Amino acid sequence: MLRQYELVEKVKSYDPDADEALINRAYVFSMKAHGNQTRASGDPYYSHPIEVAGILTDLHLDDETIATAILHDTIEDTLATPEEIRKHFGQNVARLVDGVTKLSKIEAQSESQRAAENLRKFLLAMSDDIRVLLVKLADRLHNMRTLHFIKNEEKRRRIARETMDIYAPLAERIGMYEFMTEMQTLAFRELEPDAYESITKRLAQLNKGGGDDLIQRIGRGIKAHLEANGVEAEVTGREKHPYSIWRKMAERHVSFEQLSDVMAFRAIVDSVEDCYRTLGLIHQRWPMVPGRFKDFISTPKRNGYRSIHTTIIHDEQMRIEIQIRTREMHAQAEHGLAAHWAYKEGAPTATGDHPWISDLVEILEHAATAEELLEHTRMAMYTDRIFAFTPKGELIQLPKGATPIDFAYAVHTDLGDQTVGAKINGRVMPLRTLLDNGDQVEILTSKAQHPQPAWLSYVVTGKARAKIRRWVKSKEREETVSLGRKIFDEIVQRLPTPLGWEAITEGLRRLKLPNDEALMEAIATKRVDDVAVMEALMPGSATEGTKPPPQRTAISIKGLTPGVAFQLAECCHPIPGDRIVGLRREGEGIEVHTIGCDTLASGVDADWVDLAWGNETDGGTARLAVVVKNEPGALAAVAGILGRHGANIVSMDQTARDGSFHTFHFDIEVHDLQHLMGILAALRAVEMVSTAERL
Ligand code: MN
Repeated sequence: MLRQYELVEKVKSYDPDADEALINRAYVFSMKAHGNQTRASGDPYYSHPIEVAGILTDLHLDDETIATAILHDTIEDTLATPEEIRKHFGQNVARLVDGVTKLSKIEAQSESQRAAENLRKFLLAMSDDIRVLLVKLADRLHNMRTLHFIKNEEKRRRIARETMDIYAPLAERIGMYEFMTEMQTLAFRELEPDAYESITKRLAQLNKGGGDDLIQRIGRGIKAHLEANGVEAEVTGREKHPYSIWRKMAERHVSFEQLSDVMAFRAIVDSVEDCYRTLGLIHQRWPMVPGRFKDFISTPKRNGYRSIHTTIIHDEQMRIEIQIRTREMHAQAEHGLAAHWAYKEGAPTATGDHPWISDLVEILEHAATAEELLEHTRMAMYTDRIFAFTPKGELIQLPKGATPIDFAYAVHTDLGDQTVGAKINGRVMPLRTLLDNGDQVEILTSKAQHPQPAWLSYVVTGKARAKIRRWVKSKEREETVSLGRKIFDEIVQRLPTPLGWEAITEGLRRLKLPNDEALMEAIATKRVDDVAVMEALMPGSATEGTKPPPQRTAISIKGLTPGVAFQLAECCHPIPGDRIVGLRREGEGIEVHTIGCDTLASGVDADWVDLAWGNETDGGTARLAVVVKNEPGALAAVAGILGRHGANIVSMDQTARDGSFHTFHFDIEVHDLQHLMGILAALRAVEMVSTAERL
């Protein structure tokens, strides 16, 4: 156990300004308060808080945190009161001790409430002051180190399970890998004693194979190779931790012997440039294993972790993992957030791109007080995310601004796809509700449901967005293909002779399209026009013009000199029922416009001819602009209405799309104006159609 003066000296060694008297007072207070209580190990109880404080000095934490660690069990387990703590140690320490005490109380709650309730409050308390969490993690680590003294096996297993499920992941979340690893190793030993035993034994055998220490031999080889090429590096090797080996065996369903990379090496170099040089030198010397290379220097992990990871096949035909990093990255990787405390006196140098780290550097340089620093640290780390729970108490991490849809997709893709509603904390709430920290979310589902494009306007996670988009895309394609098929059928009608299956295969080849669906898509999107399709299916058919488009034959116009060529204007697409006017230019035929057409209004230099539709007339092509909501089925609904009203779609174009609405232009064949008006009215009645107009 650490003695009082040793503890004070440790703190002084990294923080000469630390309040020595505060630590001394805490030491004495805790010792007196715990009196002759003992631990399961038989040691005096107060050795525990002192050891917890010792763990935190390794992380170079400030005097208030150290005092809090020493006092952390006094309120809960002794007669000491919060008032006494406040009187002797000040407001800050009292608040921190209170925070840790609250966490301990939750720990002691009944089994059934544990997972969800516990963790939720835990996180809320954590966001109050990060130091509370650091003390709690150190407390748990020390309890794990002394776990084997507890006689009751069930209790040991419960504590180990909780450590594995809650505390180790929390340590990982704030980048404290050293804590995480040790907690996992200790918990693993308790939960899977046989597996732990067997793996550690095999690791020992492996390492001792060949007389010389294999790990050291490989490490020396790597170091020598780097030095021969001018890079100074500190190379250390280790077996992977028993728990991570075991997890890999379980995940990949392989035995220890089949598991090829159980050794990991670390090269610590002076600069970022040297990291990349080291990587190059290692890959030149040994073959890399594809798919295992990761560059967390250019793209740091969320918690700020930076390193380059690669796996190579070493001389002894063994796969080994190598991590390459600078000294500073190393300190940060081992101690995470806590590493920054070590830099409290002098500002740290290059810290990479990770936003909260660079924010932190900024603050370290400018913060007036430790309080300000803490406040900013907490904000930088936690304001960008929220924690919500499934009904079973499973924790789901989401970015701020997430909705129940994001939550559902984070749990499972099927759950997201089938979401119809959500209960938040037991109450049914709209799907666009923003989730709050600690919310319990129950997703209501229906097998008949499918992703809704409208969700895109309020989801924030990449996963949800990607899944919804993919569904909408496939649906859109389906609709395009079926629309193309309708147009295709009309084209086929215009061919001089019926079409054989062979002709379609040949046609696809001529158009260089892979299959039937691609053809329908190309037709619908106008990438190939009718003439090209006809020619491809039956060469010569379009130019022979055996069956010209129906509207040509069916139109007759009164007021024209017989034999004079005329054409319906492309600008206004007159249809029977429209009042029409002809424009006659020198040497050209007559162009037929509607009376309201802008071409007439612009005063073209041409003669006007009064025209009227002939009795035999049947049909014309009208152009429509239809704005539909961005929802699957919208296009199908439009096509369905056109079909039911007997209007052939001649062509279709998508002219505009934004998040919520798509605009389509349709050229459709209609009998007359009345027919068209009926169609427009029917389109406007569709819920998914926003507007439908004739152009
Ligand atoms: Mn404790």
